[in-house]
Amino acid sequence: MTALFQQLPAIDKLLKTAEGEQLVAEFGHSAVVTECRRLLEQGREQIKREHQLPPEFGDIRLITAALRRQLQQRRQVRMQPVHNLTGTVLHTNLGRALWPAAAQQAAVAAMGGNVALEYDLQEGRRGHRDSYISELLCELTGAEAACVVNNNAAAVLLMLATLAKGKEVIISRGELIEIGGAFRIPDIMQQAGCKLVEVGTTNRTHLQDYRDAINEDTALLMKVHSSNYQICGFTHSVTEQELVDLGREFDLPVITDLGSGALTALSAYGLPAEPTVQDKWRQGVDLISFSGDKLLGGPQAGIIVGDRYLIERLQSHPLKRVLRCDKVILSALEATLRLYLQPERLPHQLTTLNQLTRPVDQLTQQAQALKVRLENHLAQDYILRIEPSPAQIGSGSQPLAEIPSVAVTLEAKTPAKLTALFARFKALPQPVIGRLENDKLWLDLRSLADLNALLDTLEHL
Ligand SMILES: *Cc1c(COP(=O)(O)O)cnc(C)c1O
Repeated sequence: MTALFQQLPAIDKLLKTAEGEQLVAEFGHSAVVTECRRLLEQGREQIKREHQLPPEFGDIRLITAALRRQLQQRRQVRMQPVHNLTGTVLHTNLGRALWPAAAQQAAVAAMGGNVALEYDLQEGRRGHRDSYISELLCELTGAEAACVVNNNAAAVLLMLATLAKGKEVIISRGELIEIGGAFRIPDIMQQAGCKLVEVGTTNRTHLQDYRDAINEDTALLMKVHSSNYQICGFTHSVTEQELVDLGREFDLPVITDLGSGALTALSAYGLPAEPTVQDKWRQGVDLISFSGDKLLGGPQAGIIVGDRYLIERLQSHPLKRVLRCDKVILSALEATLRLYLQPERLPHQLTTLNQLTRPVDQLTQQAQALKVRLENHLAQDYILRIEPSPAQIGSGSQPLAEIPSVAVTLEAKTPAKLTALFARFKALPQPVIGRLENDKLWLDLRSLADLNALLDTLEHL
């Protein structure tokens, strides 16, 4: 075995070959040495297992070719772009909302340059990083002030920690939600140092339940939009309006975690209705929090709008400094929000809304183009059809509402072939992610960002 180990080339010898020198010129000395060590270690492991020199280690050119492949691979970003054909438009695991062009431009401009992030250009002195967005949000929602943090989970944490640390927060049992990625209201309460006071039952909560729970330790009344599930049947919940009246009676603020936080009435675009931020403010809720990358259609952010005095308290809490957004996100969010100043143009300009409202006819045409391209490669082993498909908004918005869509479906002639196909799509240079359902692979056009890019990718199938 020692003799076999000795047949592996020494690193300095490898580097002195013409191929080795070429690699160093391209990738730099340290990266090449690191990769050499890694590769030779693999060679030694293989010798231990198989008691012979692996053929690819017998030839310098094969070794340097393997090194080149590895070095190239390590230069590539592994969080790859994918084509979303799952039918879920706001797919949390695939990065939620696609930024509108205006947001992308604003972000790129901010990335490589300086921006007046905390600099008041009129006065020439220190400004506030949320101020541009705050003004816009007030105009759009009617609220008095706003605060922006990293995501909505952070927004909820900041509200609770600022307004109710060491105190009690009353919330309905039916609203103690868990959403994906370990966001659970009781856990966030605990992290914020608040005591959770659950009232009512899973399916029914009455105003009297809240009233009975109020005592001198109560700091807040809280509502949570039960985004990712619905309770049907014998149910009752207390509206924000009622809770606000109760809050006024006892001088307690009412806060709402709205989750998706639509900034425009979706029903105007033929979509299932979601409560809007404006509605909640009009109903008198003191603070409303929501995500930037769900229905709003912008970058990941958590937005809180509401009462000026309470927002000032959030802004001066040390946690705000921990949770604040950077210049790129704030630029992109501002650009996204500016689109809402022109509501008629919103379905063209806001990518998420565009995806959700594209007419079925248009999706059918796209499905035809996709089917033709796939048939070239797959018609032998699969039955291809164009079928109506139930798409979803995703990210907890309207979990039961189906949005009409169209999919190309692939039915395998044998079951094993279907999983193999799913894997084959995922192995493409830009992986194609569909949905396996009813023994078919569904490629739903509603959630797709770019048909031409998809057709180009499929050349590699
Ligand atoms: C999505 C959601 C959250 C979490 O928002 P992130 O922006 O993902 O942190 C919290 N509450 C509700 C009700 C939600 O729907």
